[in-house]
Amino acid sequence: MAGTKTLTIIKPDAVRYEHIGPILTMINSSGFHIAALKLIRLSRSEAEHFYVVHKNKPFFNSLIDFMTSGPVVIGILEKENAVADYRKLMGNTDPLKAEEGTIRKKFAANIERNAVHGSDSDENAEKECNFFFSCIERFSVFDK
Ligand code: ATP
Ligand code: MG
Repeated sequence: MAGTKTLTIIKPDAVRYEHIGPILTMINSSGFHIAALKLIRLSRSEAEHFYVVHKNKPFFNSLIDFMTSGPVVIGILEKENAVADYRKLMGNTDPLKAEEGTIRKKFAANIERNAVHGSDSDENAEKECNFFFSCIERFSVFDK
């Protein structure tokens, strides 16, 4: 059975352009419960750890510069089939390929500055949620 949570990051570009509210509205309107939320600035080592799978990609240094360039909103989103449904709501990594009605189509500038992150598997969702939030910061409607 698919998991019920995913981790999102509203990236520095979307925070800078005051898109936090509209993005959270799209998230809520699509049936997600916000189980945790905070505004923080990632350190270089936190961003490098988070995107470690991309460390050999040509865009890695630029991605880390971007992700540490300003505050980000980190959230845990809950709903049945959370990972796949949120990736659908985000749209393609490249906003030029993202469908109408997706967060990236609406708010992303380009393939790097693409407004939001969403976990890509239940296993990574679990790891990412545990990396950013302690148990007293989480208010799940599923885990009792
Ligand atoms: P995310 O992991 O942020 O949710 P994603 O799963 O859609 O995005 P990944 O392939 O995991 O995409 O890439 C991670 C991030 O690295 C992208 O969201 C984007 O910010 C950046 N990125 C990916 N591909 C490129 C590229 N070709 N050029 C520049 N930046 C890129
Ligand atoms: Mg990814």
